[in-house]
Amino acid sequence: MSSWPKYSIQEVYDKIKGDKQKVIWDKMVWNRLSVPKHRFISWMAVQSKLQTTAKLAQVGISTSDRCLICHNGAEDHVHLFFQCEYSERCLNDLKRWLGITSSSSTLQELIRWLKRTKQSKFVKQVFYAGLAALLYYVWQARNSSYWNALIPSVEATGKQIRAIVKIRIGTVTTTED
Ligand SMILES: [Zn+2]
Repeated sequence: MSSWPKYSIQEVYDKIKGDKQKVIWDKMVWNRLSVPKHRFISWMAVQSKLQTTAKLAQVGISTSDRCLICHNGAEDHVHLFFQCEYSERCLNDLKRWLGITSSSSTLQELIRWLKRTKQSKFVKQVFYAGLAALLYYVWQARNSSYWNALIPSVEATGKQIRAIVKIRIGTVTTTED
């Protein structure tokens, strides 16, 4: 034991902690029912790696840090997913559709809830696919606001999410097994 370097316990602890954090979202990001481009945006979102307006303002690329969708707060990951009025309404729409009973509206808590919920593996995969699609379309709405000065309605976004998740389930479940 005495030959171990002093810092090894801290290092091991950090590694375990790091792995635990990863385990929270791995099921969602690598979910086979999620569309690949939704997985990519989810992976960026759960790690707070999207180039949000708040982040761009911090490095001087943007002069404002306001949310491009609602203009009512600094656009960081916590705001976009899902403090923003628009994204929260889209989330509630998704919850109603899939029967997600969690009252949570933060991404990390939602992922934890989805992981713990007593549902079949398939239902959980559908939940994850829905959430990944939501992250993708909220990010799209934000980008569309910037590039096209156009934000799709909550209804239109919900409709798109439902359509793409249904198609994906149909494609994946009929081409596998
Ligand atoms: Zn907003």
